[in-house]
Amino acid sequence: MLESLTDRMTSALRNLRGVGKLSEENMADALKEVRTALLSADVHFKVARQFVEDVKAAATGQEVLKSVTPGQQIIKIINDELTKLLGEGSTALKDKKPLRIMMVGLHGAGKTTTSAKLAKRMAKNGYLPALIACDVYRPAAIDQLETLGQREEIPVYTDRDSKDVPKIGRQGLEWAKAQGRDLIIFDTAGRLQIDENLVQEIVKLKKEIQPDEILLVADSALGQEAVNVAQHFHDAVQLTGIVLTKLDGDARGGAALSMKAITNVPIKFMGTGEKIEEFDVFHPDRMAQRILG
Ligand code: GDP
Repeated sequence: MLESLTDRMTSALRNLRGVGKLSEENMADALKEVRTALLSADVHFKVARQFVEDVKAAATGQEVLKSVTPGQQIIKIINDELTKLLGEGSTALKDKKPLRIMMVGLHGAGKTTTSAKLAKRMAKNGYLPALIACDVYRPAAIDQLETLGQREEIPVYTDRDSKDVPKIGRQGLEWAKAQGRDLIIFDTAGRLQIDENLVQEIVKLKKEIQPDEILLVADSALGQEAVNVAQHFHDAVQLTGIVLTKLDGDARGGAALSMKAITNVPIKFMGTGEKIEEFDVFHPDRMAQRILG
C-alpha cells in the first residue's frame, strides 16, 4: 500500500535520521528531497509546496529537544504535518437515524462495492441498512448491487423500468422507511470522466432525497486527476466525506491524499480489497506512519 510514496519518503529522510546537528543547509536539502518525493508520488504541486513550507515553519519555531537527535525531531514534525495533511478531526458519519447516504464517483471507483461494504459495517453498529440502486444506465450495476445485497442479507430497491433517477430515489426512500430501515444508501451512476449531465442528475437526486452524508468514492490510483474530480463533485453537491478505495493496489496514492488538502473534505473510510470486509475507517495518523515507513 502506497509503497512508492513510502520508499521515496524513506530515502528522502534517510540522510536526516542520524544527523546530530541540524543546519539550515541539511534541512533545506532534506526538504527538497521530501518535496520531490511527494511530487513523484503524484501529490498535487500546491499541496507539496505548502507541506514543505509548513514543515519548515514548524521546525523553525521549535526548540531542539535533548532526548532526540535533531534529525529525529524533524522527522517527527514531518509525521505530524503529514497527519494534518491527511486529515484532522472526526471522520465519523453523522450520528442519526434514519441516516441517508448518497455515494458518488467515477465509474469503476468502487461505489457499488463500497455501498455494500458500508451497509454491512453499519449493520454491525446497530443500523438496519437498505440499498437503493440509482445507477440506471448499467443493468449490470443493478445486478451487482442485488447480488451483494442477497449475499449480505441487505434489502435492495431497484426499478428496472425507469430512468428517472430522482423518482427512483424518492420511491426507494419511501420503500426503505416503510420497511423500518434506518440506514439508506443510494448507489449512483458514474462515468469514466466527469460528465455534466451526470452531475446534474446527482444534483437533482440530492434535492429529492436530502442526504445526510454525500461520500465521494475515489480510486486511490486516480493520479493527478483526483483533485479535479474531487473539486468538481464538491462544487456540485458539497461532499461530506471521501472513501479511498483500492489502497491494496500499487497506487502511488499521492493525488488521492491531495484531495483532502485541496477540498478540505475529510477522508472517512478506505477500501483495502475486493472482499466485503476489506474496508475500514480511515486513520490519518496510521496512514502518515505507513507513508513514512
Ligand atoms: P463502481 O463502478 O464505482 O460502482 O465500481 P464497483 O463497485 O463496480 O468496483 C469496480 C471494481 O473495483 C470491482 O471489480 C471491485 O471489486 C473493485 N474494488 C472496489 N473496491 C476495491 C478495493 O478497495 N480494492 C480492490 N482491490 N478492488 C476494489
